[in-house]
Amino acid sequence: MLEDDKKYVWHPFSQMKTDPVPIPIVKAKGSILIDENGKEYIDANSSWWVNVHGHGHPHIANAIKHQFEELDHVIFAGVTHQPAVEMSRRLLEWFKDKKERKVFFSDNGSTSTEVALKMSFQYWFNKNENRRKVIAFEGAYHGDTFGAMSVGERDLFNKPFEPFFFDVDYIPLPSDDNFEAVKNQMKTIVDSGEVAAFIFEPLVQGASGMRMYTPQQLQSLIDIAKTKGVLTIADEVMTGFGRLGKMFAMDFLDEYADIMCFSKGITGGVLPIGITVATQEIYNAFWDDSRLKAFLHGHSFTGNPLACAAVNASFDLFDKEETWNNIERITQKNAVFLKQFEKYNSIQTRQMGTIAVIQVDDSMPNYFSGIRDKAYSFFVEKGLLIRPLGNVFFLNPPYCITDVELDKCYEGLTDFLEKENLIQ
Ligand SMILES: *Cc1c(COP(=O)(O)O)cnc(C)c1O
Repeated sequence: MLEDDKKYVWHPFSQMKTDPVPIPIVKAKGSILIDENGKEYIDANSSWWVNVHGHGHPHIANAIKHQFEELDHVIFAGVTHQPAVEMSRRLLEWFKDKKERKVFFSDNGSTSTEVALKMSFQYWFNKNENRRKVIAFEGAYHGDTFGAMSVGERDLFNKPFEPFFFDVDYIPLPSDDNFEAVKNQMKTIVDSGEVAAFIFEPLVQGASGMRMYTPQQLQSLIDIAKTKGVLTIADEVMTGFGRLGKMFAMDFLDEYADIMCFSKGITGGVLPIGITVATQEIYNAFWDDSRLKAFLHGHSFTGNPLACAAVNASFDLFDKEETWNNIERITQKNAVFLKQFEKYNSIQTRQMGTIAVIQVDDSMPNYFSGIRDKAYSFFVEKGLLIRPLGNVFFLNPPYCITDVELDKCYEGLTDFLEKENLIQ
């Protein structure tokens, strides 16, 4: 397999010349991945943060199989089907305020935010208002398509594409120290009257290192945005579906965003789908006799029935108390694990829901250069699939992970910190 892989395959987010050879996985069950030599790995980051119920869940498997036998795929323009309609109804039932909303389909996280941005721009266009600015956070990640990249952190990753991005005003992620300044900055930008939308990862910025901020801080910024009617876009692609302890991160705030983006865990992380939920007010701005006001956007696999069936099966699991008990169990166990590190200055810890973070001090860049690669290899050797973000090590496991498996993750992390003399 590896020979053919090397010959034919180009992997994502990889420097093919220098990265280690990929792990040839042949099987997965629950939290465990098994490679072609029979070696087992704990999938401690839920396979790029998607696989919330664990692998090979029989209920999801049956739903997909059954759906395949009934209706595998069909165009979604001018056609509808039960799995998509049911999925939309059930998703909106999770919104506690029960306001009218509309569900738009695409096929991954990047397209869910891309759609949100296009909807926002066209919303103002349809209303004949000239609003082109977007506000985003420094350190944001909203995906890898052009709109999504435009509103993301302007880092070295995206250097080749920067000349093609649209203008965005960035504000720092709020903290106790900078909160007043961030609010003032937000107010100044919003008061220009030119802002179309404010996009954010609610409460946890994923890709830039699981950076966290509070519901109160986010709510204040949203309140400022609302003073001038700026549309709010919550990118829940990573935070949605129980990851932070509630169904959505926005459940921790007073109200939902005007637009909510979902992907990753929504199908239980077994099939791709992107979902953009808009308020009825936004929808109404496109409702017209003229086709030119319509939202003329769509993908070949929009509303794929198999993916929708997986979402519905995943919702069945979220209807069970067991799932929420597991989320609570992981959350509490992580808290106990992280607590022991409070006394060390060389590392910082933080946690929200099932996400546990250990950040290694990077004030010593020479020594620590390459700590990510070193850590990754160390974990893989120990049978742990933990992909650090630079100097940030984190766990966001499937909710079915057992206490024994969690303990193995903790042991691996602790062993690495000890080996590197970061805790003594
Ligand atoms: C992963 C992620 C995306 C992009 O999703 P893809 O399915 O990888 O395109 C967008 N926003 C956030 C917050 C993410 O974590």
